[in-house]
Amino acid sequence: MGPAADTDRILAEVDRAADEIVAFTSDLVRIPTVNPPGDAYDVCAHAIGDELARRRFDVEYIAADGRPEHTAAHPRVNVVGTRRGGPGPVVHLNGHFDVVPAGSGWTIEPFGGVVRDGRIYGRGVCDMKAGIAAALFAVEAISRAGVRMPGSVEISGTVDEESGGFAGVAYLAECGRIAKGRTSAVIIPEPLNVDRICIGHRGVYWFEVTARGRIAHGSMPFLGVSAIDGASRLLQIARDELMPKLAARRTAMPVAPPGACHATLNVNGIEGGQRVDGIQTPCVADLCRVVFDRRFLLEEGFDATRAEVEDLVRRAREAAPGVQFELRDLMVVHPVRTPDDSPLIAALQSSIHRVLGRAPSLVASPGTYDHKHVARIAGVPHCVAYGPGELELAHQPDEYCRIEDIINATKVIALAILALM
Ligand SMILES: [Zn+2]
Repeated sequence: MGPAADTDRILAEVDRAADEIVAFTSDLVRIPTVNPPGDAYDVCAHAIGDELARRRFDVEYIAADGRPEHTAAHPRVNVVGTRRGGPGPVVHLNGHFDVVPAGSGWTIEPFGGVVRDGRIYGRGVCDMKAGIAAALFAVEAISRAGVRMPGSVEISGTVDEESGGFAGVAYLAECGRIAKGRTSAVIIPEPLNVDRICIGHRGVYWFEVTARGRIAHGSMPFLGVSAIDGASRLLQIARDELMPKLAARRTAMPVAPPGACHATLNVNGIEGGQRVDGIQTPCVADLCRVVFDRRFLLEEGFDATRAEVEDLVRRAREAAPGVQFELRDLMVVHPVRTPDDSPLIAALQSSIHRVLGRAPSLVASPGTYDHKHVARIAGVPHCVAYGPGELELAHQPDEYCRIEDIINATKVIALAILALM
């Protein structure tokens, strides 16, 4: 980090920009970029792009051409701004601008961008439009302070993180816009609390098991084979044998909350036999499908995880003769972890210490986020999530972000950028 006087001037510039940071955040909240289906992406990409251009960034718009979800009705448009400094490292700050649907239970207009009692309210404010504002004004404060950047900064606003990020960060990584050799480090200002640095996440394996039986008259069920009975045997074995094994496994990654340090299995949905809200006829169910969400640990790995699921299905076959079971993979996300000695972690640790006066903690996310695409597709190992807002408020009614947190995160990001360069 530069001389102490530089640091002081940058921190003062962030404080001075507080009203602009709040205004830009609430402007973004007022654009209802709801995903699904992916509303107003074009408008939001341009709102971010216009602001970047006003701050003398070079701005590019990158539409996810070729992706099936990029349609005329719902174009998937990403924006990247570049502020060139010296020939040093390229620090990339990435924020997704899609938000989940508002849902019910709000006492405040979810897309009003209301500012009240030191907080900004609205869907997506903490997850993660405040983070985008923090990234932009961190760079702006460095330049207003007259501090020359030895390297360059890129700020991207991307789509679809809430639905997997394939037309967003994954797309930027696939087309080489975020890439090993080009990008030195990536900070994703997701809401993980201002004194926590998120160093990765567990793996995800979504799979579907289809049970097929034989239809018969419901008055003589013994003449058929119930697919629902078969599926329930599978669920019973999962509950009695597999789940206790998973609960006993624990990762060395600091996943928060602590319950998520273990391997887990959730049943996302089950569908079998007749629709319960339809007209009923007396039939033995010949089809039942179950979708599972298995979160696996870095230490487990995907191959062993899948082999264990195959074994579960094999056990169900033995327990339910006459039922045919079929396993189908729906999605695999491998676990990621930032290397312990990453300069990115050190830069954020010292900056958090300087701004907040306390030591940060390292956490890993219970779910996944765009880190996976940066690590796996772009091949950039130096990636973390750090940003304003409380994780617990994301996706909730009356979502808000404390202005004080946004200002502090902006300061931390500014100092971390310089420390990395
Ligand atoms: Zn998010």
